[in-house]
Amino acid sequence: MRNEEKLVKLREMGNRVTESPDHWIGGYPDGDNAEVYCRTCCEKNIKHLMNGFHPPLPVQKEEALLPLSDEDKEEIHFTPPFVDGGWSSEYDGLPMCASCSAPLTGTLTDEGIANEIAHYLKCEDNGVVISSERNAWDLITLISNAGSQYSNDIGKILEKVSFQ
Ligand SMILES: [Zn+2]
Repeated sequence: MRNEEKLVKLREMGNRVTESPDHWIGGYPDGDNAEVYCRTCCEKNIKHLMNGFHPPLPVQKEEALLPLSDEDKEEIHFTPPFVDGGWSSEYDGLPMCASCSAPLTGTLTDEGIANEIAHYLKCEDNGVVISSERNAWDLITLISNAGSQYSNDIGKILEKVSFQ
């Protein structure tokens, strides 16, 4: 399959993935937890805060939640956290929910593009195997964010792409 054909197929597959608007927690006690969520997870994590716990990290079990400090609890009492966002922001990695990994709207920073390009160029052994619509979305999101200065690298990545 030629690169142009792969690109068409990647677009077709990637376009079937639904992106949710990106959200984050506004009024996080003592600053920002710098995470982005789908709306459902954002609401769920605000409930954790209201119950006195930090939202779980993606790999963390619910029962291992970190409690908020007394100062944090007091801050929440006076300025409750809220669902913020709902518009497209810029990220250093592919925009996905920190809790459930759902694909989100948003664009990549220059650093994010460089990181993702490096990641795909490193896939030496089996090449870049696209086995799901989500895999296709990941790559096509990168390709549509990368400017023309990356066209050589994108070409190299597309050469490694195979579909399963
Ligand atoms: Zn989510």
